[in-house]
Amino acid sequence: MDALYTLADLERDLARLQTRYADVIACREIGRSVEGRPLYAVRLGEGTRCMLLNASHHAREWATTWLAMALLWHYAHAYATDARWEGVPVRALLDRVALVVVPVVNPDGVELATRGPAAVGVPEAQLRTMLRRNGWDRFALWKANVRGVDLNRQYDADWSSLRQVVDGPAAAFYPGVRPATEPEVRAMIALTRTLRPCATLAYHTAGEEIYWYFGQTDEPLRRDRALAAGLARLTGYRLIPEDDRTAYGGGYTDWVIATFGIPAFTLEVGREPHPVDRRQFARIWRQNKEVPFYLMREVVRLG
Ligand SMILES: [Zn+2]
Repeated sequence: MDALYTLADLERDLARLQTRYADVIACREIGRSVEGRPLYAVRLGEGTRCMLLNASHHAREWATTWLAMALLWHYAHAYATDARWEGVPVRALLDRVALVVVPVVNPDGVELATRGPAAVGVPEAQLRTMLRRNGWDRFALWKANVRGVDLNRQYDADWSSLRQVVDGPAAAFYPGVRPATEPEVRAMIALTRTLRPCATLAYHTAGEEIYWYFGQTDEPLRRDRALAAGLARLTGYRLIPEDDRTAYGGGYTDWVIATFGIPAFTLEVGREPHPVDRRQFARIWRQNKEVPFYLMREVVRLG
C-alpha cells in the first residue's frame, strides 16, 4: 500500500462518499487555491448550528485530510443507519449540530508535498529557493502554499507580533505581507463568517498535542479548559499550557477564538518525523474517531 494520501485519493473518496451517502452528504466548492484547485466543504446533518472541522492547512500534514475523510465516512454511516453511540442517536445529534468538513485547505501544497514539484505550476527553481530559506532539502517537508506563504500564519489574530523566522516566501513560517492575502485563507474566513459555527476543530500534524488557548478569560476560559481536558482524556494528547507562546498568533484557531469567542481547538495528530504516513493511521484513528462526536455532544449540552 502506498504510504501517501494524495489529492487523487481525496477526489476518489469524495466521489464515493457522495455516491454512497447522496441523501445525507452535501458537498460544495467554497473557493479555489492559488493554482485554481477546488476547496470543498462537506456537510453532514440538518442542524441549523454546526461544527466546522478543517484539515491540511499545512502541505506535509496531508494525513489529516485522510483523517477528515475517514471521519466523514464513519459519521455518514452512523447517520444513514440511525446508529446510537453511547446511547446518543447520531442522526438526532447531527440534526441539531451539523458537521461541516473542509478536508484540504491547501491542495496545491499537498500536491507538492506528495508528488513533487512537477505536479504544481510554480517553477522548480523558485520552489527550491523557498525550500532553502528553511534549510530543508525535500519537498515532502513543505508546509506553505505554492507561493511560499504559511496559511496558518495568515489569520488576523496577533498577526503583527508573529516572530519573523524567514526573510521571504518559504516552505514554512512566512506569514505574508499582511493577513489574509492568500485565497485559501480568504475562503476559510468567508466560510467561517457565513456558517457562524458553534465550535471549530483544526487538524494538524504532529506531536499528539492540543492547542486551545488564545487569551480567553472568565467563563469562556473555564468552558474551553474543560472541553480541552475532555479532548485530552479522549485522545491521550498533551494540553499545551496557557503560558506556552511557541505557536501563538496568526493561526485559524487563534482567529476563531479572538473573533467569535467560541470553543476552537487545534489537534496535532501523529508522531514525528514528518510526513506522518499511513503506518500511523490506525493509531490516529483510534485516538480521534470520537473527537467530533464528543465536541458536538458537549456543545449541545452547553446550550
Ligand atoms: Zn500544521
